[in-house]
Amino acid sequence: MKAIYLDNNATTRVAPAVVEEMTPYFSEYYGNPSSMHTFGGMLGKKIVEAREKVADLINADPDEIIFTSCGTESDSTAIYAALQSYPKKRHIITTRVEHPAVKNLCEHLAKTGYRVSWVPVDREGRLDIDYLYDHMADDTAIISVMWANNETGVIFPVEQVAHAAAERGIVFHTDAVQAGGKVPVDVRKSNVSMLSLSGHKFHGPKGVGVLYVKKGTKFAPFLIGGHQEKGRRGGTENVASIIGLGKAAGMAKKELGSEMDRVRGLRDRLEAHILENIPNTLLNGSRENRLPNTLSVSFEYVEGESILLMLDQLGICASSGSACTSGTLEPSHVLRALGVPFTAAHGSIRFSLSTYTTREEIDVVCEQMPPLIERLRTMSPFWKKEASCSIL
Ligand code: PLP
Repeated sequence: MKAIYLDNNATTRVAPAVVEEMTPYFSEYYGNPSSMHTFGGMLGKKIVEAREKVADLINADPDEIIFTSCGTESDSTAIYAALQSYPKKRHIITTRVEHPAVKNLCEHLAKTGYRVSWVPVDREGRLDIDYLYDHMADDTAIISVMWANNETGVIFPVEQVAHAAAERGIVFHTDAVQAGGKVPVDVRKSNVSMLSLSGHKFHGPKGVGVLYVKKGTKFAPFLIGGHQEKGRRGGTENVASIIGLGKAAGMAKKELGSEMDRVRGLRDRLEAHILENIPNTLLNGSRENRLPNTLSVSFEYVEGESILLMLDQLGICASSGSACTSGTLEPSHVLRALGVPFTAAHGSIRFSLSTYTTREEIDVVCEQMPPLIERLRTMSPFWKKEASCSIL
């Protein structure tokens, strides 16, 4: 059975052209780019090309691109770089809906003596900008606000916040891991100091990420070691993956226009079908300001995990909005920050599409969802109570 893969915010299929581009660098050209001999040294040229392609995707200068091992490393590097560059500044501003790569790091930093301000969001997942502005202080070392949320797809006003941070002389970092390759990302226009990307979110390989660092931004390496990445990130380059990432970045740039419009059309089709045909269903996050591929919906009185299991039996891959905390399934911090009602937060599902998603696949999911939710609700004691209440 071929899976209908609608979990592309978790990871994406590596594009066949990317695999093809990478393959010789495992078997034929396996040298170390730092070597003096031609066999290894020639790989430097391929890394230069990849760096140019990644820079082009976000309108950066190639010198501003640092290759890392993943989005998480890029986020950590950015935040630690600011804290080390401004040791007297002990305050961080971030949001309540960041990915664990930023959230858990900031929670850890809070335990080690940093002050962290957590910017709230409203029911549509929109940032409370006034809260953010009110908390900017003279000792704020860094503001980290994601470009787009991984669960709801809601896009934040990064440009606005970055300009406000720049006026106050505060370093601004954005986790653009979910935005890269899905919506236009322009570092010049948005005026960000640092930005994170991850290869496996836009049809590149896993285990390779990017940190953009604007020229003139004070920086300190996270991985201290060799001279790689101009001394900004030690460690032998993951050559094949960097080459694959470059290829994926070039392809993503081409697909930003009409292809992402097609994906948006499919997402909207699925959304409309679900909301029209399944009662007591809520959309999570702003309808307008969202990634084109992401749909987060909550079905009242059912468990997200049960939905996932039934979808899985049908060969449909999606994600739930719950995380296993201390052995119990709790709605994610993102859904809690949005204030999704308790009856619905446990039944949240994220569908995330990609360039490989077809209309036929979406039609299968549209057909399967209403009977699947109905079946689960007939088994739910809460749903029965709700139904009898509404008859009264
Ligand atoms: N930031 C966001 C918004 C993400 O969605 C993810 C991965 O899901 C990450 C960071 C972490 O990226 P990586 O898996 O490359 O470490």
